Amino acid sequence: MNKRDFLPTLPLRDIVVFPKMIVPLFVGRDKSIKALNEVMKTNKKIVLVTQKNAEKDDPTESDIYSYGCESKVLQLLKLPDGTVKVLVEGLDRVKIIECKDNKDYLSSSTEIVKDKIDVPQEDILALSTAIIRKLEKVINVSKKISLDLTTSIKNQNNPSTIADHVAGQLNISIPEKQKLLEMINLKMRLEKLMEHINSEMNVISVEKRIRGRVKNQMEKTQREYYLNEQMKAIQRELGEIEDGKDETAQLQKSIIKAKMTKEATKKCLAELKKLKSMSAMSAEATVVRNYLDWMVELPWYNKEKQTEKISLDEAKKVLDDDHYGLEKVKERILEYLAVQKRVGKIKGAILCLVGPPGVGKTSLGKSIARATGRKFVRMSLGGMRDEAEIRGHRRTYIGSLPGKIIQQMKKAGTKNPLFLLDEIDKVGNDYRGDPSSALLEALDPEQNNAFNDHYLEVDYDLSDVMFVTTANTLNILPPLLDRLEVIRIPGYTEDEKTNIAKKYLMPKQIKDNGLNEKELNLNNDVLKDIIQSYTKEAGVRNLEREISKIARKTVKNILTNKIEKVDIDTKNLHDYLGVKKFKYDEMELEDQIGVVTGLAWTEFGGEILKIESAVMPGKGKMQITGKLGEVMQESIKAAKSYVRSKSLEFGIIPPIFEKKDFHVHVPEGATPKDGPSAGIAMVTAIVSSITNIPVNRMIAMTGEVTLRGYVLAIGGLKEKLLAAHRARIPKILIPEDNKKDLAEVPKKILDDLEIVTVKTVDEVLKIALTRELKPIEWIDVKNLPKSESGEKISTESTH
Ligand code: ADP
Repeated sequence: MNKRDFLPTLPLRDIVVFPKMIVPLFVGRDKSIKALNEVMKTNKKIVLVTQKNAEKDDPTESDIYSYGCESKVLQLLKLPDGTVKVLVEGLDRVKIIECKDNKDYLSSSTEIVKDKIDVPQEDILALSTAIIRKLEKVINVSKKISLDLTTSIKNQNNPSTIADHVAGQLNISIPEKQKLLEMINLKMRLEKLMEHINSEMNVISVEKRIRGRVKNQMEKTQREYYLNEQMKAIQRELGEIEDGKDETAQLQKSIIKAKMTKEATKKCLAELKKLKSMSAMSAEATVVRNYLDWMVELPWYNKEKQTEKISLDEAKKVLDDDHYGLEKVKERILEYLAVQKRVGKIKGAILCLVGPPGVGKTSLGKSIARATGRKFVRMSLGGMRDEAEIRGHRRTYIGSLPGKIIQQMKKAGTKNPLFLLDEIDKVGNDYRGDPSSALLEALDPEQNNAFNDHYLEVDYDLSDVMFVTTANTLNILPPLLDRLEVIRIPGYTEDEKTNIAKKYLMPKQIKDNGLNEKELNLNNDVLKDIIQSYTKEAGVRNLEREISKIARKTVKNILTNKIEKVDIDTKNLHDYLGVKKFKYDEMELEDQIGVVTGLAWTEFGGEILKIESAVMPGKGKMQITGKLGEVMQESIKAAKSYVRSKSLEFGIIPPIFEKKDFHVHVPEGATPKDGPSAGIAMVTAIVSSITNIPVNRMIAMTGEVTLRGYVLAIGGLKEKLLAAHRARIPKILIPEDNKKDLAEVPKKILDDLEIVTVKTVDEVLKIALTRELKPIEWIDVKNLPKSESGEKISTESTH
């Protein structure tokens, strides 16, 4: 290394110049331009050194690295803005020995630094070849390094020059480059380069991977978008959907047209706004669209107009046209309508028609609708346990719907229909909420102008709806019952049924089956036969079914046998209806021991209840069979206790209660029977079976019994008397307290039946048993001195 003259020195901000490298430089700093000017005057040689800190404007010796590159200016171009563009070529790697600042520019004395090679030349060559290969690969996958580089270095065979060329082009930081410049050991320099190229390669492959993934993702979304658009286009072509814009415009029109309440319109427009910003195919959009469809289709303002116009006379005519008899019921309905007409609004209690199935509750509901010119809708509450069935589900999922009340309102299409709520006595409640509270809200005229359905979210006005309810029993939840005005329809007598059949059911079935009146002849006797032998019911539903069966068969008969008409009499009736299903006379053929005819009331109306009692050797056990409810079982036990307490008066020796087993059975076990009203019948059966006195078969009885032998009032008297009448039992024992209820019993029944009122069980036994009871005297053996006992009643002793 030899020290040489001072040369002008150019500090570089962001580049490291390597030997054999030709680079253009833009020079702007005063001092630098002066240095170049100086160089141009001499041998054009200059020292290029990189600044440690690129920001420094006027660097001194300490601000520049101590290694640089002695270079030659190949070209110099003065630019109009005063700056200079030079093309320089690196010559030698130099180390600055001394650097001076002569005010105009920096100048330094340097020494040329030669490569240090401490390994065999082949190793160096191998390394440089490896570098070239690697570099080619990098260039293949990345555009960051230019192709020229490979061609220029391939032509080189000096490893040192190759290393410098590559170093100059690498995408590494200035300090890293400077380090390579300062690395004199060639092998180390080549290895370092290799390292850099490898890491560059890694960066490139990671970049490539990421780019690939991003591209994939984009392609997927683009594909979906494209397919969706295509689908929409196809649907539009098929006319399935209208253009998105059209749809919302259409909805907006419908919302305005629906004349909703202010609150509802506001809500709908807000939802519509949401819908506009949603993708048409999304699940949320479907939910919103469904909601708007419901809202738009609900009746918000349109009422049936003639409701107010119909006069009471017209209403009465409609009720009479549709139903036979039921005078009291019709009268009450008319009173109700009259008040409504006067008041103008539906206020006050809601009608509740209570009675067994088939007595015309539903059809009365339809008639009231017709009589008041309202649309008719109905909803069954039977088994309803979930509040959501009435109030609807919140709009959280696609399938959610409004409650049944709102659904029916939509079906009605008017704001003032007649809404029949069937089986209000069957509403239950469980963990899913209490439907009765929602019902109460709907039925309460004070609240129902703002009925709250979970799905609608806005209040709906039900105050113009006329609610009518039906039930089989009065077993209605008290808060509901409180709102209801109960009208009872107990069931029909045979005569009434005959009339209903003749005047209503027959014409209806004849018409429904496409017959005319002359084609089917069927007189009252036949109708009576059908009623007695083929049906056993309080209402007329089965009767209607049987008549419809006859009508069907008649049509077939006429068509197949080419006859003009069919005459049905009691003899050929079985050809049409098959064998008789019931024997109408339910009286026993002779007076029986331990068999009593009781009367029960079930939701199907009144029923005959045979009670049987038997006594057998045993230990005083009591057996009860026949699917009886708890109350009835207790009633049997009470009856037994009563009989036991009165045993001597009834002529019964008390030990019998310990020596015999008792069995009480109530046959026809299919329907569960409950209630205390069979009390007197139980007592009679037990007494009869112990005393062996037969019971009068002509008598039926009903009445609750107390432990002291009094007969208490019972419910459902009308229904029970109808049942007794049906069964042809002529004499009925009823509690004295029920005498007042006889006023409501049809006259025909009272004429046909002998009704005896009783106050005590003694009276009952006196009438019902065929022989009088003889009281006995009896002294309990256990209470007597031992010596006397053995002799007196040896059979009863217990040795
Ligand atoms: P419910 O609702 O009480 O169970 P429905 O209203 O279904 O009974 O009545 C059953 C059938 O009996 C209907 O076809 C109805 O028209 C008829 N019906 C019931 N009572 C009468 C009556 N008094 N007059 C005419 N038809 C009647």
